[in-house]
Amino acid sequence: MSDSIRSRLDRVLARIDTACASAGRRPDDVRLMLAVKHRSVEDICLALEGLVAARRPLLIGQNHVQQARASSEAVRERYPEVEIHLIGHLQTNKITQALACVDAIDTLDSQRVCDKIASRLNTPLPVMVEVNVSEEDSKTGCPLDEARPLIERVLAEPHLSLRGLMTVGVLSENATARRAAFARLARLKDEFDPSLELSMGMSGDLAEAIAEGASIVRIGTDVFGPRPQ
Ligand SMILES: *Cc1c(COP(=O)(O)O)cnc(C)c1O
Repeated sequence: MSDSIRSRLDRVLARIDTACASAGRRPDDVRLMLAVKHRSVEDICLALEGLVAARRPLLIGQNHVQQARASSEAVRERYPEVEIHLIGHLQTNKITQALACVDAIDTLDSQRVCDKIASRLNTPLPVMVEVNVSEEDSKTGCPLDEARPLIERVLAEPHLSLRGLMTVGVLSENATARRAAFARLARLKDEFDPSLELSMGMSGDLAEAIAEGASIVRIGTDVFGPRPQ
C-alpha cells in the first residue's frame, strides 16, 4: 500500500515542521495528538510505531469513553509511555469509566462537570478547558464569555491541574475566520498563563493553528485516512 498510515503520518509530521518553520517556532513546540475515534487498535499502534521512529511523543485523543476503555489497555501494553486524553464530550454518567482509562480530560466545559470530576478524585487530574471560540452555537465547549469563571474555578480546585485550553475552532471555509478564532483562544490563554497548552488545529487547519500558537494539533483523517462509517 503506497498510502499507508506510516507514510501519511510522516507527511503530517513534515507539514507540522514546515508550519513551525513558517511561524518561527521550534518543531518540538508542537505535539501531534492522534485523533483515533473509530480506529482499530492495530491502526492506532501502526501510527504510534511511526511516532516512535520519528522520536516524537506518543499522544492519543479518544472521543468516546467506550472506545477508550476497549483499546487503552492493549495500547498501553505495547506503548507504556503513551498518554491518552479524552477529547470528546464527557457525559457525567461516564466520568468514573473515563477516569479509569484516560490520563487527562481535555473537554472540561462546565462547572457542573468540573465539580463532578473533582469530587471523584484523590490525586490531581490534568485537564483542559474546552472553549467554543466560534461565536455561533456549537454543541461542544464552554462559550467564550463563560470561559474565564470556569478557568478560575479549575485553578481553584486542588484535584484538577489545568494544563491548557482546547478548541475545535470554527468550521468555516474562510481561512481568516478560522485563524481569528484560534487567535481568540491564544489571547485567553495568555491572559491566564502563557505557558499553558493550546490544543487546536485538525487535519484541515493545522498550519493556521500552529501560526496562532497551538502546542498540540489533533489529527485523525490525514493520518488514518477517511473516517470509517
Ligand atoms: C475527529 C476529531 C479531530 C480530528 O479531526 P480530523 O479532521 O479527522 O483530523 C480532532 N479533534 C476532535 C475533537 C475530533 O473529534
